[in-house]
Amino acid sequence: MRCPYCRHADSRVVDSREADDGQLIRRRRSCPECGKRFTTHEEAVLAVVKRSGVTEPFSRIKIIGGVRKACQGRPVDEDSIALLAQKVEETVRAKGAAEIPSHDVGLAILGPLRDLDEVAYLRFASVYRSFDSLADFEREIETLRAAARARAGAAGADGDAGAAAGAAGRTN
Ligand SMILES: [Zn+2]
Repeated sequence: MRCPYCRHADSRVVDSREADDGQLIRRRRSCPECGKRFTTHEEAVLAVVKRSGVTEPFSRIKIIGGVRKACQGRPVDEDSIALLAQKVEETVRAKGAAEIPSHDVGLAILGPLRDLDEVAYLRFASVYRSFDSLADFEREIETLRAAARARAGAAGADGDAGAAAGAAGRTN
């Protein structure tokens, strides 16, 4: 491997160790020309199989691009999008397969995107799951409302308990 400092055509491996449970190999290299050291990573390429059958390497940048588009005009910052893409990559890599259908990558995005922003989620889901009628949107929105009600219900129950405890405290 070429030295990134002086561009010398060769380098020597001085140390090699596994990381991430053997999913990654990290090598420490030394340049015989300038003597500088640098690190390289080696990991299996995760291939994404598109519907056409064409494969391409998994790209976190692509995930970020797609999610950013869905989040246009929404109060979602770049850090959250980067974190979501990292989560998606971890999910798809955790399957341990060499290839993954692009459909499964989309599925891995839907969950975390719903937690991040419901409007962005609806935009993404409408394209990804090819909604073709208002009924599709209505069904999805009803699911989101039910989830929001469940969350509010849980929070409300806690709030009531707190208020009751407070009232009991005041009477004593
Ligand atoms: Zn060098």
